[in-house]
Amino acid sequence: DVTATKGNEFEDYFLKRELLMGIYEKGFESPSPIQEESIPIALTGSDILARAKNGTGKTAAFCIPALEKIDPDNNVIQVVILVPTRELALQTSQVCKELGKHLKIQVMVTTGGTSLKDDIMRLYQPVHFLVGTPGRILDLAKKGVCVLKDCSMLIMDEADKLLSPEFQPSVEHLIRFLPAHRQILMFSATFPVMVKDFKDRYLRKPYIINLMDELTLKGITQYYAFVEERQKVHCLNTLFSKLQINQSIIFCNSVNRVELLAKKITELGYSCFYIHAKMLQDHRNRVFHDFRNGACRNLVCTDLFTRGIDIQAVNVVINFDFPRNAETYLHRVGRSGRFGHLGLAVNLITYEDRFNLYRIEQELGTEIKQIPPQIDQTIY
Ligand code: ADP
Ligand code: MG
Repeated sequence: DVTATKGNEFEDYFLKRELLMGIYEKGFESPSPIQEESIPIALTGSDILARAKNGTGKTAAFCIPALEKIDPDNNVIQVVILVPTRELALQTSQVCKELGKHLKIQVMVTTGGTSLKDDIMRLYQPVHFLVGTPGRILDLAKKGVCVLKDCSMLIMDEADKLLSPEFQPSVEHLIRFLPAHRQILMFSATFPVMVKDFKDRYLRKPYIINLMDELTLKGITQYYAFVEERQKVHCLNTLFSKLQINQSIIFCNSVNRVELLAKKITELGYSCFYIHAKMLQDHRNRVFHDFRNGACRNLVCTDLFTRGIDIQAVNVVINFDFPRNAETYLHRVGRSGRFGHLGLAVNLITYEDRFNLYRIEQELGTEIKQIPPQIDQTIY
């Protein structure tokens, strides 16, 4: 099932028009969950380790950001996609060609078991996008015919297979041909030990996407505070002064409210960034990247980034506006169980939200308690 659940559209990512045309001509109407997760994050330049079931649209999840980042006027290899088999290389290059149909980019496939000489000849022509198996690409790189010094993105599809003993040495050797500033996106259906080990050695602050584990509210203490709409900012101010915030994410239900609130928070003298879907991609990328790097304590946002959010430094989530349904609540507040960090969620509840609060609590089978005057600092 590749139907979208978060309600984002491909337009939300501010992709090049030619790329959007390719996406729609391929018959994709809206992004699948793994695409909703990966595309905006990959566009920020972050490394990614993503896990999702087969048939959920992983290929487009990495091809779309890769195609967006390629400069067709620069005739150098800018993206390499590593796959474990020839069939997968052909299939993946086909997807790239279709999605990038209007982009004037050159895609080349190279795998073992075919003529090395032909590949060498082909590399005298422009190539932007190289798809292949690790051994062959390494051979070409070692010979100096495949130049990877401008390749700023490495994608590893079926990463668990690419890190089996058969391929791992070639993959690691190949990485040495890449520039220091490169982005690595890894997609895998399982996370065996060698994937974790590789991630720790080569990925930089990777964004972990895990659509296999259910999100859980375990370890997260959830409170509500009844407020009137006009008291919300005052209430937030009190929370800021009382809570030990490492980093916080504050959710609003609309773009306008995000901007207004960010302004108010700044006026109160607290540092704060904001992100919403109407900001230009570049700007959004910069803000998200800086927030992840700890440049600011608080982030005000809409639901753009909620699914699978995994900024480990965030210990407090505040629903300045209460979400409209249980799923959105879970994605804002919940975490993938395996990371098991503690956290605190505070919901500002107006009279109109009351009913929704009880309903969501029931639906998720969780407990949202009234906020006590003093909050134990060891629970988040
Ligand atoms: P995975 O790599 O996760 O196993 P694929 O990338 O091979 O999955 O995609 C599985 C199928 O779903 C393909 O036929 C692909 O064309 C289709 N697909 C992918 N994304 C979308 C989308 N956003 N809308 C409709 N179909 C999609
Ligand atoms: Mg796949």
